[in-house]
Amino acid sequence: MFHKILIANRGEIACRVIDSCRRMGVATVAVYSDADRAARHVAMADEAVYLGGPAPADSYLRDDAIIQAARDTGAQAIHPGYGFLSENPGFVEAVEAAGLVFIGPSARAIRAMGLKDAAKALMEEAGVPVVPGYHGSNQDPAHLAQQAEQIGYPVLIKAVAGGGGKGMRRVDDPKGFNDGLQSARSEAKNAFGNPDVLIEKYILQPRHIEVQVFGDGERAVHLYERDCSLQRRHQKVIEEAPAPDMTPEIRKIMGAAATRAAEAIGYKGAGTIEFIVDGSNGLREDGFWFMEMNTRLQVEHPVTEAITGVDLVEWQLRVASGEPLPAEQDDLHIQGHAFEARLYAEDVPAGFLPATGTLAHLEFPDHARIETGIRQGDTISPWYDPMIAKIVTHGPTRAIALRELETALVDTEVAGSVTNLDFLIALTRHAGFRQGDVDTGLIERDLDDLVAAAQPDPAAIALGVIGLAGLADRTTTGGMTLWQPMRRTILWDGGEAVLEVLGPGAARVTLDGTRHEVRWQGDRWWVNDALRRNRIVEHDAGVSVFGGRAFTLIPLDPLARDAGAAGDTALTLSPMPGLVKSVHVEAGQQVSAGDRLAVLEAMKMEHSLTAARDGVVAEVLAAAGDQVEAGAPLIRLEEEDA
Ligand code: ADP
Repeated sequence: MFHKILIANRGEIACRVIDSCRRMGVATVAVYSDADRAARHVAMADEAVYLGGPAPADSYLRDDAIIQAARDTGAQAIHPGYGFLSENPGFVEAVEAAGLVFIGPSARAIRAMGLKDAAKALMEEAGVPVVPGYHGSNQDPAHLAQQAEQIGYPVLIKAVAGGGGKGMRRVDDPKGFNDGLQSARSEAKNAFGNPDVLIEKYILQPRHIEVQVFGDGERAVHLYERDCSLQRRHQKVIEEAPAPDMTPEIRKIMGAAATRAAEAIGYKGAGTIEFIVDGSNGLREDGFWFMEMNTRLQVEHPVTEAITGVDLVEWQLRVASGEPLPAEQDDLHIQGHAFEARLYAEDVPAGFLPATGTLAHLEFPDHARIETGIRQGDTISPWYDPMIAKIVTHGPTRAIALRELETALVDTEVAGSVTNLDFLIALTRHAGFRQGDVDTGLIERDLDDLVAAAQPDPAAIALGVIGLAGLADRTTTGGMTLWQPMRRTILWDGGEAVLEVLGPGAARVTLDGTRHEVRWQGDRWWVNDALRRNRIVEHDAGVSVFGGRAFTLIPLDPLARDAGAAGDTALTLSPMPGLVKSVHVEAGQQVSAGDRLAVLEAMKMEHSLTAARDGVVAEVLAAAGDQVEAGAPLIRLEEEDA
């Protein structure tokens, strides 16, 4: 076994790898960028090496610097995690040329699976079913259109170099083919530098079922399947293992196909064979097709670990250090059912926009497995994937594991950024999902219901008001001594209320003309005589009420509110976190409604920010190159009547 390894990654996956290393007595070296100086993975590792600026190209993608860091610290091997350099065959070769071990497959195996067309051809040869379609080299549009006709509409055009759902277009009839082809090609050229596409039959009501494989370079075993059908725009949201309705017969056939696929390329380490499955009529032995292979550890690997009892990172290290496969196929069994939900800092009602912020409060339930790279007080920066944590539950049956997931999500407390928690909770309560009736269209079909922002219950807001008044703080004497009768107006970012303290443990909150009688004893709260499950938490950013539809009230001082009331069309705010690319106006300049004021780059796209009305620029509050938060004021116009 290695005595020291370097982890060429960040966030939860770097922490996850360090966890297993610790258990195995393997020393760890972390790497980090400017944005991650104080990150959890750096604090957890035995040593850490600085790489450079926050942009991945300046840090986590700097292959030479990473290899040098491994050499300087005496690490014998490099674990790539997922993303970044994990599926870069050139990196594998450079690691090996430096006399180090890459914890993962060979460069040759990665290349074999790197392009979707070549991978499909290879899998066909190995006797693995592939989605019917065209994956040849003739990229002439007329030829491709004719192939699409032959396959039969609807078809899916896919970038051969694709990933992350980019360069994919569904086309429903011949009329739409050329447009679909053109946009898929240009997106592919932009994202991957390779415009080539393949064409597949579009599977209606598809399910995404993938099989975890593990190889030693010659032989492979599989660790059963995961169902990742709950997707939004081809991004997985909740994953589970095993797949609902899977039969032992189909499992055996799919597992054997996956193992064959891995052995066909001499696969070493952890990998995933993704299948698309026709879910329109139950699972069938001839109803699954190879889509692609991910030649790395997957984000959702913990559900497999939960049901098999295997530590996949431990296996990765053991096989990379030269040990044989740690288990034979017959040693592997499924125990119960597991779910994983991906908790993100994102603004769901605004269209799932990535969010940023400093997490003033972060607490996870202790009855679930939590994989995270974030601690309370950490900042979610705009530089990386805004994942806060993966929440994993495991139970004897699917129903119990799903109930545990729901409870774990309700018990998760985050303040300081918007999150997708309510959306995840709504999913765990979705009737179809509960029945195991999943397909990749489920979320899109029911999106409106799933994202409907349930308003916080007024009784819970009354508790928030109690928190804003400092009456919920059990760490000081606030709750005990503040019992003199008093009456105050409490203001926060979304409203106001009148609070009357009636005596020790009793207060009245008048909210929108309605009185709520609040009583408390220790940490137990009653509103209008009903016992509440809520938890009131005071933190740097305000007061949050958890346990139900969670929300945060940000205290306002009355003067600030009056100033804010004037801020209508005069202020142009940044709609999302991003980088100011350019500013097109200066103070004193006359502008008309619709004029471009500034350009913001966010989520790899440029957004023009325009004037909401005619006016004169009073102040320019941001400059090109500034990193700004959502809601940051950028340009202020003079008051209209001024
Ligand atoms: P990427 O590598 O960009 O993630 P994949 O080939 O893995 O692309 O496909 C991503 C998702 O697109 C799948 O999980 C599935 O939901 C959908 N998909 C892929 N191929 C098909 C198909 N032939 N028919 C219908 N849906 C498909």
